Amino acid sequence: MLQTKTDYQFWFCTGSQDLYGDECLRKVAEHSAKIVEALNASGNLPFEVVLKPTLISQAVIRKTMNDANNDPNCAGVITWMHTFSPAKMWILGLQELRKPLCHLHTQFNEELPYDTIDMDFMNENQSAHGDREYGHIFSRLNKQRKIVVGHWADEAVQKEVGAWMRTAIGVLESSHIRVCRIADNMRNVAVTEGDKVEAQIKFGWEIDAYPVNEIAEYVAAVPQNEIDALVEEYYSKYKIIDEGRDPAEFRQHVAVQAGIEIGFEKFLTERDYHAVVTHFGDLGALKQLPGLAIQRLLERGYGFGAEGDWKTAAMVRLMKIMTAGTPNAKGTSFMEDYTYNLVPGKEGILQAHMLEVCPTIADGEIGIKVNPLSMGDREDPARLVFTSKTGPAVATSLIDLGNRFRLIINAVECKKCEKPMPKLPVATAFWTPQPNLKVGAEAWILAGGAHHTAFSYDLTVDQMVDWAEAMGIEAVVIDENTNIRDFKNELRWNAIAYK
Ligand code: MN
Repeated sequence: MLQTKTDYQFWFCTGSQDLYGDECLRKVAEHSAKIVEALNASGNLPFEVVLKPTLISQAVIRKTMNDANNDPNCAGVITWMHTFSPAKMWILGLQELRKPLCHLHTQFNEELPYDTIDMDFMNENQSAHGDREYGHIFSRLNKQRKIVVGHWADEAVQKEVGAWMRTAIGVLESSHIRVCRIADNMRNVAVTEGDKVEAQIKFGWEIDAYPVNEIAEYVAAVPQNEIDALVEEYYSKYKIIDEGRDPAEFRQHVAVQAGIEIGFEKFLTERDYHAVVTHFGDLGALKQLPGLAIQRLLERGYGFGAEGDWKTAAMVRLMKIMTAGTPNAKGTSFMEDYTYNLVPGKEGILQAHMLEVCPTIADGEIGIKVNPLSMGDREDPARLVFTSKTGPAVATSLIDLGNRFRLIINAVECKKCEKPMPKLPVATAFWTPQPNLKVGAEAWILAGGAHHTAFSYDLTVDQMVDWAEAMGIEAVVIDENTNIRDFKNELRWNAIAYK
């Protein structure tokens, strides 16, 4: 598994002031501690929340926000104005904060205490007032933040905070993503292109190209005993579907992918790359298009995009980081819209690629096949074949419109294909885009979405929208609420908003 940091913490910072005296501040601290304790005990948050002392002055706010910036374990700040917290004292701290922020608009007390309520109670349960003052300055500063509204003990609220935490990890970790381009983009293809300098400015991605033969030398240098051991692992882990091919010849083809897997990973590890792209038309001394090898790297957390698609490779890596450690994760993969089922009532898109679909999304048995590629000029590559899980998922496409990036986010429903497809030698998924194929495909095409996607069962549309917002890029959503007339207007208005 490609290492990702999984021990991040989030700071819980309560705002108040000293107008109501020490007794009130003592209660503020006590309430905050109880909330933090409950959040951590809930099991609904993927990361620990750490309580910080109540913030009641500009100097302390500024120091706390800068401490958050400088603590590598701190992935973000959760703020809540227990009582009234005059917002001018937050200006400097918020201006200097560079980590993601969640404004948890909650209140310690859940129900109005009808029989006992008095002005002391009102002053001590005042976030309806204090959080508005605080929110105002955020809006005035035009700073991005996530707002979560509701009682802190409500499971839905806790899960919303938990989902935001994963978005925050995506924001924070984006700047460390390094993409290794093996050769260039596929010739003549538009959607895999883009402004790499702007991608580094906006997302922090480092995107470097290497001649294919530099990595091919690493593949050629892999010792035979390492290849043999990995092939043994493949044969014990996956079902061998040789379809009448000579077993020894089949094994030789598989062994080529084992060499590619080991050689590629060594090359990427030595240079600290976390995502990789290949191009079937520029394979240099490689004997096969990396197939099974790339699938195994994807499974270990690497991002991948085919045909030189570095934007999708970085997005796949990003989404793998965001979902790292998710209990019962269903998987995250590079994907491609391939062919339709247009039968009324059964509409959907068969998803695959020539080879490179991540086995984390597999449902059931995974097999190995060796088949001709029908493109390019190399020997038949070995690949993992499987079908994928069912259920809701999200498919994203990051495109470069020339003056800006746009992230297209489609909620999709993954299904089983009606029948097996025994002659198809690739891993597949099958999904119906929301709100249905007709509207979903039209909206996707109107927005300029690619045929390549970064896909995950373990992230939601909202998490991806929040990520795009935090990165300062346009995002458009295609989901159950999409209709074409409104969607066209949204694209039209965004063209002005993001000018
Ligand atoms: Mn492709």
